[in-house]
Amino acid sequence: MTDPDRIGTTVLGYPRIGPDRELKRAVEGYWAGRIDEAELHQTARTLRTDTWRELRAAGLDTVPSNTFSYYDQVLDTAVLFGALPERFTRLGLSGIDTYFAAARGVQDAPALEMTKWFDTNYHYLVPELGPGTAFTVAGSKPLDEYREARALGIETRPVLVGPATFLLLSKAADDAPAGFRPLDLLDSLVAAYVELLGTLHDEGVRWVQLDEPAFAADRTPAELDALARAYQVLGAVGKRPKLLVAGYFGELGDALGVLARAPIDALAVDLVTHPSTVDAVAREGALRDKEVLAGVVDGRNIWRVDADTALARAATLLGTAAQVGVTTSCSLLHVPYDVDREAGIDARVRGWLAFARQKLDEVVLIGRALAQGTDTVETELARARAAVADRAGAHDLRDTRVRARLDALRPEHTRRAPYAERAAAQRATLKLPDLPSTTIGSFPQTGQVRKVRAAFRAGRIDEANYRASMHAEIEKVVRLQEELGLDVLVHGEPERNDMVQYFAEQLDGFAATEHGWVQSYGSRCVRPPILYGDVSRPKPMTVDWVSYAQSLTARPVKGMLTGPVTILAWSFVRDDQPLADTARQVALAIRDEVHDLESAGIRIIQVDEPALRELLPLRAREHQDYFAWAVDSFRLATSGVSNSTQIHTHMCYSEFGDILPAIEAIDADVTSIEAARSRMEVLGDLGDAGFSRGVGPGVYDIHSPRVPSVDEVSSLLRTALDAVPLERVWVNPDCGLKTRGYPEVEPALRNIVTAAKRVRAEHSA
Ligand code: GLN
Ligand code: ZN
Repeated sequence: MTDPDRIGTTVLGYPRIGPDRELKRAVEGYWAGRIDEAELHQTARTLRTDTWRELRAAGLDTVPSNTFSYYDQVLDTAVLFGALPERFTRLGLSGIDTYFAAARGVQDAPALEMTKWFDTNYHYLVPELGPGTAFTVAGSKPLDEYREARALGIETRPVLVGPATFLLLSKAADDAPAGFRPLDLLDSLVAAYVELLGTLHDEGVRWVQLDEPAFAADRTPAELDALARAYQVLGAVGKRPKLLVAGYFGELGDALGVLARAPIDALAVDLVTHPSTVDAVAREGALRDKEVLAGVVDGRNIWRVDADTALARAATLLGTAAQVGVTTSCSLLHVPYDVDREAGIDARVRGWLAFARQKLDEVVLIGRALAQGTDTVETELARARAAVADRAGAHDLRDTRVRARLDALRPEHTRRAPYAERAAAQRATLKLPDLPSTTIGSFPQTGQVRKVRAAFRAGRIDEANYRASMHAEIEKVVRLQEELGLDVLVHGEPERNDMVQYFAEQLDGFAATEHGWVQSYGSRCVRPPILYGDVSRPKPMTVDWVSYAQSLTARPVKGMLTGPVTILAWSFVRDDQPLADTARQVALAIRDEVHDLESAGIRIIQVDEPALRELLPLRAREHQDYFAWAVDSFRLATSGVSNSTQIHTHMCYSEFGDILPAIEAIDADVTSIEAARSRMEVLGDLGDAGFSRGVGPGVYDIHSPRVPSVDEVSSLLRTALDAVPLERVWVNPDCGLKTRGYPEVEPALRNIVTAAKRVRAEHSA
């Protein structure tokens, strides 16, 4: 398309780690000193070039730029506007090293905090702002990348995090005065955007995309007002590129009207997350003079689009907007590159999938059908329809046995005796001391352990050999824990690559990808499994390993499982039935495993739910529904055991505030929870929320190489005991130990056990 005044078909963003994680290798190579800065930039340039060429070759009308990042787009924005805390800028490092210092931390300058990007499994770095933050246009990344693309003959649309979202995602610096809110800086930040828009305009940039996903969540009137003010000012700039604002990850609610009335040129709306959004957009009269981009291709999940539904949704807007373009519901950052490389996935299932590369074709197809009529794309449409119909008709994916078992479950099957009764039964059988010490499950994953796992996968060693190696590792870990004096032991999880993938590989209804990497944060990538059919467990998944560990020791060994919510959160999940239904199937499979562990004599079973917070919907009115099914699935998984079997759960990465009622309602006997950094703050909140069961507040921050001293741990424990009675407190690290090394873990655990004994003695004295 040649009309420079239209966006037409486009995507809001694209994966950037490289089809073979080239960026991960380059960045990590640079950190380790294996490659120099020039080589790092060269790899990045190649990746950008390949992406632009691919997007153009796919036939999109317009192509985004500045979607690349060495680490994170929020950090890029902070750097672009000169808003890095002084603790990084005063280090005297080069530009790129200052950037990485903010991302990863260096001695004396701890990294920016990292947190989840809305309800995805991507993590961004949280800017720290204060009244003294002076925004300027300090960098030139969007301009540089625009020029780079233009030199290749590709006209692009630079993408930026929008000013309102940037401030809403930032936090007040520790030394900011009480009452300061990042949003107070709106005018000064918007002024910097104005300057940048001018520069981009002078360069010949025709369109800029400003992402405002923060408005898919509940916002106060003051925040909506800030959004309105920001775009009043940006829209009023005399010489500027045209402005596209993208709101994604859900419906915009009141922000829709605000943006429709703002003097911007185009608005991208997510019509996938809440399909009813299309009606709200269609009713919005103020869009008459704008181009609306219908986000009808799911940017976060991997199913092929239902082209007819997507087309109908986009067409609904034809009378509403001056122009209707077609795009993805959000950036494609959250899906892998190319399903055609997945030869290992059953061909029929593969036919139902669309990764980023395939989604380009879907956008182009729907865009053509909308602009030129369906008869111009009859063949492609027929193919798309056939794939969707094949998936819908795949009744062999319905497991009648699983469905019948779930139908037969009655509420009493998901309820246990009251906590007090269970606690008494568990005290009698487990005979643990006060302040029992334990760990969260994994022990350091040494190079040797990883090597053995990889060799087994590749078929270089046989099963017997593999088991022998794992048993040796388990024995080492059990002996170490005995020697350290821990009360409840674990087998150490050496056989697990990842806490979700490990289970997905053994459950029916899941497929694994070979190249399906997605950026989680920085250079860290994950390969989410694909949950495509009814889920069941053909055979026990963990019982052998845990029983082996238990056979080595008289102390109780805790069985270790991943919970249904976390399994869903870290997979690509079928979209043809409610999440609640899928969660129940996964829960039933976990329930079977819990049952088998109990039958094998395991007396304590932990079901981890670190992602309980992550799946919490962005809109408060959906929270009750979510809690209902999340809690129900945990209870379904764990309620089949006798009173004397102790159920643990574990949570981390969270601002727990929003999920406190759920932590209570899942009814685990013991909850271990990240708490070391916040110095046990969460305990008071839990108490206020009426939590009355066992709790293990983390006393060792495993995200840091620091070894906490006995005094430090003792003082944390005393703080914990101010909030929770002695008989309910457990002593454990914040999270699993798999990313740490033994030289730190051994002394840290030794200090934890010593501190537990010391504080125990204080209390019996
Ligand atoms: N049991 C897991 C481990 O110890 C829990 C990991 C997590 O919470 N993310 O590694
Ligand atoms: Zn954890």
